[in-house]
Amino acid sequence: MTKRLWIETVGCQMNVLDSELVVAALRRQGWEMARTTGEADAVFYNTCSVRQHAEDKIYSALGRIRLEKQQRPGLVVGVLGCMAQKDQELVRKRAPWVDLVVGPGQLHRVPGLVDEVLAGGGPRLEVSLDRAGGSREAIAQSFESYDPDRDSQMRPTPFQAFVRTQTGCDKFCAFCVVPHVRGPEQAREPATIVAEARKLVADGCREITLIGQTVNSYRWKDGSTTTRLADLLVLLDGIDGLDRIKFVTNYPRDMTDDLIAAVRDLPKVSHYLHVPAQHGSDAVLTRMKRGYSIGEYMEMLGRLREAIPHAAVTSDFIVGFCGETDAEFQTTLDLVRTADFKNSFIFKYSPRPGTKAFDRQPDDVPEVVKKERNQALLEAQAAVSLAGNLRFIGTRQQVLVEGLSVRDERRQGENPPSTDGIAQLQGRTMCDRIVVFDAPLRLVGRLVDVDIQAAGAWSLAGDVADGLADAVPLEHLFSDDAAAAPPTLYDIDLTKSDLRKNAITKSGLTKSDRGRPSPSGKSDTTPADTSAGA
Ligand code: SAH
Repeated sequence: MTKRLWIETVGCQMNVLDSELVVAALRRQGWEMARTTGEADAVFYNTCSVRQHAEDKIYSALGRIRLEKQQRPGLVVGVLGCMAQKDQELVRKRAPWVDLVVGPGQLHRVPGLVDEVLAGGGPRLEVSLDRAGGSREAIAQSFESYDPDRDSQMRPTPFQAFVRTQTGCDKFCAFCVVPHVRGPEQAREPATIVAEARKLVADGCREITLIGQTVNSYRWKDGSTTTRLADLLVLLDGIDGLDRIKFVTNYPRDMTDDLIAAVRDLPKVSHYLHVPAQHGSDAVLTRMKRGYSIGEYMEMLGRLREAIPHAAVTSDFIVGFCGETDAEFQTTLDLVRTADFKNSFIFKYSPRPGTKAFDRQPDDVPEVVKKERNQALLEAQAAVSLAGNLRFIGTRQQVLVEGLSVRDERRQGENPPSTDGIAQLQGRTMCDRIVVFDAPLRLVGRLVDVDIQAAGAWSLAGDVADGLADAVPLEHLFSDDAAAAPPTLYDIDLTKSDLRKNAITKSGLTKSDRGRPSPSGKSDTTPADTSAGA
């Protein structure tokens, strides 16, 4: 009998991609997606460890699924991803009803492991070596790259896809657990990345977002030739049928002139750059072990803006990091007020076991102060974002239409629009600005020109200009019979309207965090207002 899977995902784009790949691999073995946990033979949680909040959510979900497991002891419960790698045996100590604990470097084993559990083989724990668990080579090998064939059915939209450039991270920022749970940085071969992109484009994909923990540190050495991100962008830009290329997340020190020139000169590369500053004060950046001063960050930003004046730059910030004084926080506030970020993703510091800050620096900023600073920074960024968006009124922007706006997505349940019916749609400009506009649903997946009429802090609103920028029919994206449409795969907040497309098979992947999604799907504080535009 067909087995059914339910999977929930929290965290960054890496997790979204990992879930896509795990689901695709299981589907190739005959699994189908469950509509509820109640009809699932296996329930998986693909987890995140970047902040405590993300872990707490998974442990509460495990508490809830325990009741179902009591009713149906044959249900396989799996914890995948970063929390599995971080907590290892602790997962089953806290939740003994979990059958599978599989780290991000062992995901290729999931299909075999589920079969073993179903055959009565008992619980399984498969994780990679700790960062101190052997030679660099041995550790790297224990984090195996997971590159099975892609499956467009498994993405939030068939015309957008993440492509991994590298796994792991070697930056070891004092606050961050990522290098510990995702292992050493390992680049994928350029030919593999390009071949995957070509295949995605042949399958109808129009926009590719390259993902790596610090994507602009990409480096592949082959004999005397070194391929860096700028070179990779040149290769990808040459793919016929691909319209847009984005990449996240960037490390400020690796924002080299050749990369900036590639972004400026290659027509398909989005002029949108997520380059987290994390803080405005040199003293705090030193405590964070970020490896640059605020002067160096501003110098980088200056080079970027000189080369591409209209580039949209976004940042991440941590408030309430160990020892952060009022005066130090003020420097972050000043930076946000002056640096003209399109958006910032703001996080309250959450101490992570295993990191240098956890071991050596007390988490001494009270929660109430973290909250106040979070709010103050959010308000400062909202004012800057609004001012930035107002500049777009009266301009014509090319928009890749992603789906229904948040407002119409909510309405869809009661009264689903037909493909020719006018709905409020949502898409993104080349600079990653969200645009809402009324248009027929069949424009989803296409590039259209929109005349911008109004602006809010987090989105623009406008009217579709005469004619279409592009008229490739993509009607196959939609089922005429909405009632028969399979549920969508993701509930992650990439853009909300991506997520319940008719063409996408869903099982309840949950939203990573509250608020508007960040480039790494990781915002927990930035408010969402993508429904109405102005
Ligand atoms: N390298 C990736 C993933 C890092 S996690 C990237 O840069 O996107 C994403 C963001 O979460 C970081 O940029 C940082 O702002 C925030 N973050 C990381 N560790 C954190 C912690 N311990 N507490 C609060 N925020 C954290």
